[in-house]
Amino acid sequence: MSTVLVAGGAGFIGSHLCEQLLARGDRVIAVDNLLTSRRSNIAHLEGRDDFVFLEHDVCVPFTIDEPVHAVMDLASPASPLDFKTLALEILAVGSTGTRNLLDLSVAHGARFFLASTSEVYGEPLVHPQPETYWGNVNPIGPRSCYDEAKRFSEALTMAYHRTHGVDVRIVRIFNTYGPRMRPDDGRVVTNFVVQALQGKPLTIYGDGKQTRSFCFVDDEVRGFLALLDGPLMGPVNIGNPNEFTMLELAEQVLSLTGSVSELAFEPLPIDDPTQRKPDITIARDQLGWSPTIDLAEGLGRTIAWLRQVL
Ligand code: NAD
Ligand code: UDP
Repeated sequence: MSTVLVAGGAGFIGSHLCEQLLARGDRVIAVDNLLTSRRSNIAHLEGRDDFVFLEHDVCVPFTIDEPVHAVMDLASPASPLDFKTLALEILAVGSTGTRNLLDLSVAHGARFFLASTSEVYGEPLVHPQPETYWGNVNPIGPRSCYDEAKRFSEALTMAYHRTHGVDVRIVRIFNTYGPRMRPDDGRVVTNFVVQALQGKPLTIYGDGKQTRSFCFVDDEVRGFLALLDGPLMGPVNIGNPNEFTMLELAEQVLSLTGSVSELAFEPLPIDDPTQRKPDITIARDQLGWSPTIDLAEGLGRTIAWLRQVL
């Protein structure tokens, strides 16, 4: 059994990660300041002997008085809506927060795992995006707080590896969805499903021809564990390479919910990437990982969950 500290463990992906770690017999310490999540995400885990929750801001240094074998850094707001209201918090957690977690890894001799993002590729000029692509990011635009924070945290992670010999893993996560996303977090899957279930118009930003590749959370977390356990340092893209336009996503949501909502076209946010699709050759060949849950199945599970929540 290993003890794994999950920063951001009460969040959407973090709570699923805690579950999968516990299911395979690891002990989990979840650290989260609940900035963009609810404690109810982990309510079903609290009270277990092998699960500890610490409500704490990782930008404030902290210690853990027991052995820790791996530190997984998922702490960061992630929705483009948060980029407007939490820009300084995002920059702080991607710099000071990640550094505190790297220091904790040094203190415990623990493996460090960074949740980075496809946003490091910005508006990609290479499609699909391999890990070798350096990206095309606007350093001062409204998304820069997030894109540059993650690019900095990747650089910091590599600097700790080179300077202190920390054993690191970097995952680049592509659009992930599923149960426990905040219904009002502003990301496209939750927006469309909530709008469809409530009979409101689905808000299409721009002409809806921009693309994303959506990965169901169970697949995503399985990819994390393959990377965490193996020798590969990364960065490694973990995402589902099936690419959809936002119009195609809207059609699927309408058909799966049986909704007759109309489409409402709204302005495209500044610097919204026009296309995104992971090249997952490394994950497939070197981690033996590939996604198994297609969009219809994953959306079905997400819709069922959101119906309950609403
Ligand atoms: P989320 O908002 O549900 O999870 C982030 C968690 O981090 C929340 O529980 C939040 O309260 C916590 N947090 C934020 N700042 C903190 C701080 N200073 N101290 C302690 N906890 C803090 O979002 P998510 O979608 O689950 O994202 C998890 C991670 O995955 C993030 O690092 C995000 O950047 C990354 N990611 C997610 C996606 C996606 O599509 N969901 C894509 C790329 C990368
Ligand atoms: N989007 C949309 N309608 C919405 C929310 C988002 O058309 O109600 C679009 C958004 O402009 C982007 C895509 O959906 O092109 C994915 O947005 P999301 O916020 O989910 O994630 P991103 O990949 O941009 O970080």
